[in-house]
Amino acid sequence: MSPRERRPTGYPYEPPRPRTPWAWGGAILLLGTLVAGLIGAATILWRYIDVDAVLQAATGEMPAPVTEMVADVPLAELTNTVSWMAHLYVPEHNAGFFPDPRYHSDLNERWGALLVGIGAGIHHVHGAAALDSLAGDGLLVVAAAVCLDDDERDAIRRHVDRGGHLIATWALGARDAECEWDGYRLLKDVTDADAAGTLEGLPPTYLTVPYGAVFSAGLPPGLRVELKTEPWITVLSGSSGVFWTDWALNPLSAPGGGAAGAAIARTTKSGARIVWFGWRMDVAATERDRRLLERVAQNSALWASGHIVVDVSPWPDGRRSAMSVTQDAEHSFRNSRRLAERFSTMDVPVTFFVVTQLAAEYPELADVLSAAGEVATHSVDHRQVAGRLWSGQLAGLRQARIDVQGWAGVAPVGFRPPREVFDEYTLEAWRRSGGRYLAGSNYARTAAPEIFDTPAGPLVVLPRVVDDDYAVMVTRGETSPDSLRATFLGSLEKVRWLGGLDLLTVHTQLIDSYSRVDAVESAVRAAQAAGDVWIAQASDVADWWLQRSGLELQVRERVDRSAVLTISNRGDEEVGSAWLQVFLPDERETYAAPELGEQIVDSEYGPGGLRVRLPVLAPGESIEILLPRRAA
Ligand SMILES: [Zn+2]
Repeated sequence: MSPRERRPTGYPYEPPRPRTPWAWGGAILLLGTLVAGLIGAATILWRYIDVDAVLQAATGEMPAPVTEMVADVPLAELTNTVSWMAHLYVPEHNAGFFPDPRYHSDLNERWGALLVGIGAGIHHVHGAAALDSLAGDGLLVVAAAVCLDDDERDAIRRHVDRGGHLIATWALGARDAECEWDGYRLLKDVTDADAAGTLEGLPPTYLTVPYGAVFSAGLPPGLRVELKTEPWITVLSGSSGVFWTDWALNPLSAPGGGAAGAAIARTTKSGARIVWFGWRMDVAATERDRRLLERVAQNSALWASGHIVVDVSPWPDGRRSAMSVTQDAEHSFRNSRRLAERFSTMDVPVTFFVVTQLAAEYPELADVLSAAGEVATHSVDHRQVAGRLWSGQLAGLRQARIDVQGWAGVAPVGFRPPREVFDEYTLEAWRRSGGRYLAGSNYARTAAPEIFDTPAGPLVVLPRVVDDDYAVMVTRGETSPDSLRATFLGSLEKVRWLGGLDLLTVHTQLIDSYSRVDAVESAVRAAQAAGDVWIAQASDVADWWLQRSGLELQVRERVDRSAVLTISNRGDEEVGSAWLQVFLPDERETYAAPELGEQIVDSEYGPGGLRVRLPVLAPGESIEILLPRRAA
């Protein structure tokens, strides 16, 4: 084994190749001025390195190529509502803007289908006068209405001033009746954004949906969606709930600085609920992206039309995010003692992924690492597992498991594959060997764990969407403990923003001094001080994610618009510590306290709405919580 092969993994993946800009890019480039300086905040940049190139240079051989495996995103059933009305606006002057004259009506049809799926009846509205005669409680949808005359603009403003609800998308009224450029005044007025601008289309184009706003309900926290590339619209606003980001889930810059908002949900003083998207609904890059994008739209449309939207909070006890401290114990294996002893005194668990051939040389460390938390495996010999034959993978993983059991006395349930890559065989072989989770790359698809269904059963993948010590000290060459500390603190903030998992990762050959252990400790202290971070060993995070995935949520609306939430535990294990997050369309006074049978359920109001504590749910158990609406 050359030293290169034993070196820790950084983030060995290239973002996907840029896609060809969409055919309409040219026409839409004329939309407005371009925003310069699309840079993520320096403190939260998540860099990656091309390990393949490094390896090839060192050894003259390439590891087997591995293709990205994508986990399903199961989507919960949407709220079953009593029927309601959506008004789809047909702009007077818009059709000529698009090369295909049917384009806009196709887009409205797409919206119609989305809305029918959540209980809406559809009504088409033509012209400003018709806007003025809309009934107060319907939802007005103005999709991709780029060219609007003065009467139409005024009518939209009046609708909002009356407390009428609105979904608008893309470059709302950025052009006039002749489709001449006019700017983002109407868009800014309606969204109350501090700034709005055009985001130059640098392919590929990504949106990220952090946990916590209505858009994210039922979706994995920190979900990334790819769009076709063209200049999209961005805003700077505190009401943003979806953001334009890079591949690694770091926000791009809005005009004038700050995170580039891609979607807004807000309530005006007049009581109007306003939703805006910076894209059109027909621009998802793949079928998977389309499905996820439509769920984002349906969540917000439910809310804008006055229905509650409910989600199971991602982490136990309703916490915002999770953190696991992990170390790959490989080269310089004995350095693992420092981290283990420090964290044992702090009573914070650490997960050690040990290379079992190396562990065998240090039997005295088995108890030290076990006492600090969890001993998992990083393979027998640190050679890439993915890409090998089934029999070879299975034999290797079984051996790693037997080795750890012999060394530490407990069979490991976690595996970090060398280079963080895995394939179908890796997942199944580890599950068959008795493993429950794998710490590996999810190519930044989400900031949360994913569940893969293998023929041997489900396996959780814990992704790392933050820099490890290798990225800081080797790739960036910043070897001071302060750099390490700053990166870990930045990563914590990034993951708290996303509502995901901070898989803090260090390596024995780099954490070779107490000052570097201090840097890890400061990140954990910061997470403790934040108060909303669940700090747990990796196996507990994986087990929680699997338990939570067993919870099935259905929301049904009564005629009086009270909501009945049915929560069923379809999994094999008891689920405790789960909370619901309820996004409320109306002021809290509108709702009475949630009831479970005769009892009032523990609940509290917070920034995102109402949080409801669930009782412990046994496997197969089902409960109904009523959220009553007070009579007006
Ligand atoms: Zn390694």
